[in-house]
Amino acid sequence: MTAPRKLGFDTLQIHAGAKPDPATGARQVPIYQTTAYVFRDADHAAKLFNLQEVGYIYSRLTNPTVSALAERVAALEGGAGAICCSSGHAAQIMALFPLMGPGCNVVASTRLYGGTIQQFSNTIRKFGWSAKFVDTDDLAALEAAVDDNTRAIFVESIANPGGYITDLDAVAAVADKVGLPLIVDNTTATPYLTRPIEHGATLVVHSATKYLTGNGTVTGGIVVDSGKFDWSASGKFPSLAAPEPAYHGLNFHAALGGMAFTFHSIAVGLRDLGMTMNPQGAHYTLMGIETLSLRMERHVANAKKVAAWLEADPRVDFVTYAGLASSPWHDRMARICPKGAGALFTFAVKGGYDACVKLVDGLELFSHVANLGDTRSLIIHPASTTHRQLPPEKLAGAGAAPNVVRLSIGIEDADDLIADLDQALAKATA
Ligand SMILES: *Cc1c(COP(=O)(O)O)cnc(C)c1O
Repeated sequence: MTAPRKLGFDTLQIHAGAKPDPATGARQVPIYQTTAYVFRDADHAAKLFNLQEVGYIYSRLTNPTVSALAERVAALEGGAGAICCSSGHAAQIMALFPLMGPGCNVVASTRLYGGTIQQFSNTIRKFGWSAKFVDTDDLAALEAAVDDNTRAIFVESIANPGGYITDLDAVAAVADKVGLPLIVDNTTATPYLTRPIEHGATLVVHSATKYLTGNGTVTGGIVVDSGKFDWSASGKFPSLAAPEPAYHGLNFHAALGGMAFTFHSIAVGLRDLGMTMNPQGAHYTLMGIETLSLRMERHVANAKKVAAWLEADPRVDFVTYAGLASSPWHDRMARICPKGAGALFTFAVKGGYDACVKLVDGLELFSHVANLGDTRSLIIHPASTTHRQLPPEKLAGAGAAPNVVRLSIGIEDADDLIADLDQALAKATA
């Protein structure tokens, strides 16, 4: 017998999690549009509820279409298990939920998606959780921010919106030293560009709304567990490594080992928080992922061309794209995401806030939307939109200064994108 071949990324993005449907032979994963599943008998039902047998009970917990997607993304990220959620923001709450309790905090990077800064600054306080924001390039500050009540460190791989790459290896070394799980939001990189678990991440979260689905049709999120964290070592994670009152006293880590987080997230998290992905949404995301590597290659190639053109243009003050040799994060790219720095970056327009607003209004091919990771090229002015609820002193730190616009470069012809930017810059800076 030969050892099983390790399948490549392009194969996994099409085949992982999917088998011909056992009932019909359907080759594509069917959309199991059902809420409930008939138990074989009372004993089967009892075993399912006791987690002694894995199967389907109710679609708030699991659904075959949604499970196929979870398995596929877990395979692409190199994780042990995954949980699909109703949105990227739901995935973040689901990632924190088994780790946190009242009085606990998460230490988070200052360079995060604006909505995440908002969720972490205000909304999680309603659960008695809090966040401390630090510049994760300052490793001493990162370590110093961790206290007895810290339960996780949270960063983005390629940070939205600033074209910044987190040194995942260095941050993971700090997490390791202090004995905490590292959560990495890998939305803007996707597992094609970087696989955070290989750099020491414990959990990976995604907004599937973005590149995974890839065409702006779905709102979804995913949490992937590496299966590698020892939840029992510190005594800090009672939901996972002590009798869990929310599940008839089951010690998930003792019973399920590396699958503790995944099972807890389904059996308690999805059961009680209900942030479940629907099977239609999972279907669209499965379709999107089949071409993920092809799209990401083109996204990156286009982003490089457009960023280089903008950098050479006198109407532009600066471009923050880690794919440019001028970027302070360019060297980090070779280590963290050698296939490219993604397709999301910002640039500063001479003329500041007003010129940015005119630029956005003057574009014809780029769409002015609050989204990213679409086949279509998108633009937004963060200071007047996604980041407008942030206090001014946090704007620049989040890469969203008033003179900056963010581009999400699509997979159109790069020359057409450049021509559109050229005519709109002419109007904006006239
Ligand atoms: C969009 C986004 C989120 C939130 O995802 P939703 O699906 O919109 O809830 C989180 N993190 C990053 C990096 C994002 O781009």
